[in-house]
Amino acid sequence: MQVIEKVTQMQSLASRWWREGLSIGFVPTMGALHEGHLSLVREARKHHDRVVVSIFVNPLQFGPKEDYSRYPRTFEQDKVLLEREGVDVLFYPSVEELYPEGFETYVIVEKLPEHLCGLSRPGHFRGVTTVVAKLFHIVMPHEAYFGKKDYQQYRIIERMVKDLNMPVRITPMPIVREADGLAMSSRNRYLTPAEREKALVLFRTLQLAEELIQKGEREALVLTEKLKTFITTEVPEARIDYVSFVDALTLEDVSHLQGHVLLALAVFIGSTRLIDNREFVIED
Ligand code: AMP
Repeated sequence: MQVIEKVTQMQSLASRWWREGLSIGFVPTMGALHEGHLSLVREARKHHDRVVVSIFVNPLQFGPKEDYSRYPRTFEQDKVLLEREGVDVLFYPSVEELYPEGFETYVIVEKLPEHLCGLSRPGHFRGVTTVVAKLFHIVMPHEAYFGKKDYQQYRIIERMVKDLNMPVRITPMPIVREADGLAMSSRNRYLTPAEREKALVLFRTLQLAEELIQKGEREALVLTEKLKTFITTEVPEARIDYVSFVDALTLEDVSHLQGHVLLALAVFIGSTRLIDNREFVIED
């Protein structure tokens, strides 16, 4: 596996692959890799001649009070994992390499970020779309893989690619979970053992929602009240950011569950903000 730190070097290699007719699969990450990331890498490996994974903790997508400086950085370990998966190139640029002095161009998707995480993390998705657009221009992938763990991010990237006619296919991948149900996340490393137990409340809330919906409840307000009560009863110190039923395409709130709906959760356990979600397709 080749580690490339320079934009020009990555671009000329990708151009060469295009000339040779080789297909490129791409997985953008912020590192601190786990099985969730690796499931994306394996899918890329299955379908493409060349696989590129990027590791870049993107300062642009962190708010001033967020965890940019303490975000886990485990490069040597990540490198071993990616090598083992048969990745061709690990693209590992510095902040200065991607945002040299004078940088002032941003990519903004307008409406999709006005919901869910976008409300409590202003500017976050502008950072995401800007860096992903840059990475697409540098890596020139035929297909890029995104986890549904970050469902809103996946929909926003899908929108950006469509609106800007970027020649890349966006493929969403299922959420990978720990044995007990907790969605894998680099941020799970922040949790103390006691918090790790409490973090399970997110998954259990999704399960409760599933039960209530199976029993026939269709009113979003009734469901969200029950789910919020469940969270605060189970883990009194949990701080709920949102518990929302939204249209899975537009991410707009729904009042009555019908069609393709997403239940999305964001909950602070201690100082760690965790997200999780589940899709429902309701036809009756
Ligand atoms: P991150 O390093 O957190 O930016 O994530 C990089 C990619 O991995 C994103 O597309 C995430 O949605 C995806 N990802 C992170 N955690 C999981 C998970 N538990 N299951 C599936 N995909 C994930």
